[in-house]
Amino acid sequence: MSNERPKFPLKLDALESKKNLKTSTSVGKKSIVQNSNTTSSLGKPAASIFQSPTGVGLDSAAVREHLIRKLAEQGIEDEVVLGAMLNVERHKFVDTALVNQAYEDTSLPIGLGQTISKPNVVARMIELLRRGKNLSINGKLGRVLEIGTGCGYQAAVLSLVSREVYSIERLKGLFDKAKENLRPFRIPNLHLIFGDGMLGYEQGAPYSAIISAAGGEDVPQAWLNQLAVGGRIVAPVVMQNKTQVLVVIDKNEEGFTKTYFEPVHFVPLKSGIN
Ligand code: SAH
Repeated sequence: MSNERPKFPLKLDALESKKNLKTSTSVGKKSIVQNSNTTSSLGKPAASIFQSPTGVGLDSAAVREHLIRKLAEQGIEDEVVLGAMLNVERHKFVDTALVNQAYEDTSLPIGLGQTISKPNVVARMIELLRRGKNLSINGKLGRVLEIGTGCGYQAAVLSLVSREVYSIERLKGLFDKAKENLRPFRIPNLHLIFGDGMLGYEQGAPYSAIISAAGGEDVPQAWLNQLAVGGRIVAPVVMQNKTQVLVVIDKNEEGFTKTYFEPVHFVPLKSGIN
């Protein structure tokens, strides 16, 4: 049914009404981040950070608002997460041929057999991360480790809600692609690493949060070791019945607590680099 999919210029009309496309958008009863020349809820000028000068000529802010409204309807409640996702131009992270699908709630191929995660899952995982005991006084996560940079989209979102982000990718082709995708945004608190994320990244440890975009049988010991006390891991894991689900692991003085959540579909966590 590809002809049902609104193309970018049409999407403007497809959105509820012009009046909803003004400077502020309402998610439920709450007001969240606005358009390009406003300040985001994180106190950063959205335009200078996340809108590169070489746009593709689309009114992506409007379609992004539409996606954010959908995420809120689907149950994402954290305004900070929604605000960050409103600010990051997902279409700048996918191949030109897929740009029209960039603001649909779907995963998309990014090359080398990998995918950019579904926006709903990105939002859900960051929301879960932020519900831990790991937020600092300014409401941000401290040092965050992301396993599986892929195209760099989630890393960009994370950089808006964290003090420092270390993102590690095992495939050189994607590491290079993420670097290229992220370069125009000049994000000072985001560090990209080419390496095996199963080993974590000792240099940035201890982390207040670890998030994985790839799922294995279990969470590697290195992640548990590199997590700060009070920190939280959110990752997909494969259960005995072969279903992959989200797991939340909290580290406290006594040890770890694990809570399992809904089924998800992530690419496999693999060891070594390639
Ligand atoms: N967050 C990404 C999603 C990428 S898909 C995005 O926004 O695009 C998951 C990624 O995890 C893939 O690129 C895959 O190569 C990577 N991956 C799998 N195992 C890994 C490991 N051990 N270390 C680092 N990256 C890994």
